[in-house]
Amino acid sequence: CGIVGYIGSQDTKEILLRGLEKLEYRGYDSAGIAVVNGAGVRVFKEKGRIAALRDIVDANTTGTVGIGHTRWATHGVPNRVNAHPHQSKSSRFTLVHNGVIENDEHLKRDLLSGHSFISDTDTEVIVQLVEKFVDEGMSVEEAFRTTLKNLKGSYAIALLDEQDPDVIYVAKNKSPLLVGLGEDCNVVASDAMAMLQVTDTFVELMDEEMVIVKKDSITIKDLNGNVISREPFVAEIDA
Ligand code: GLU
Repeated sequence: CGIVGYIGSQDTKEILLRGLEKLEYRGYDSAGIAVVNGAGVRVFKEKGRIAALRDIVDANTTGTVGIGHTRWATHGVPNRVNAHPHQSKSSRFTLVHNGVIENDEHLKRDLLSGHSFISDTDTEVIVQLVEKFVDEGMSVEEAFRTTLKNLKGSYAIALLDEQDPDVIYVAKNKSPLLVGLGEDCNVVASDAMAMLQVTDTFVELMDEEMVIVKKDSITIKDLNGNVISREPFVAEIDA
């Protein structure tokens, strides 16, 4: 399983698909990508190989911001509905997640009682919670942090907001995730290998950190909103 993300000035589809192919070695049963452009978010997902996903990605959909996912199912069978990305009720928010949310049933009963769910995944609670907190008046960043504080388990997450396509929100706890610094773009990946096609310069994330990734900046914060500074490193791997 794995995650990729790109925010920059090039069309993101091919970069995401190539990135997912580089993560194939980690094992997966389904895959998907989401691309944002002026018309909104488009999600493509499919059971099986990245090649099967490639076949259904609409060549005419372009966008310079996107996220991608390969899934190793833990909650819900491998099928298209359970494949990531998952969307919030209004489809404003789109999210990919690797890991396991251990208190998903509790969150469904407690904070999300009355909500209906489209998939059988533990992941869907994350994106529904973000929207719930935004609907209650929080900023997206605050809603994301509040959501993360409510999660028990492991996660690498990338989140898109259709209303603010200039940012990808990411977070990590006990699952690997790196942010890569490119020229005129920034990227996200579970493994540097996936994004060596774009950059060899990465910033490591620690558990319970989130990052606001924009085209020309990244801001790392802890879950209380305190800014954290960290030097990048150069990945010494052959692409
Ligand atoms: N637990 C999530 C699911 O079953 C994510 C699995 C993964 O890490 O790919 O959908």
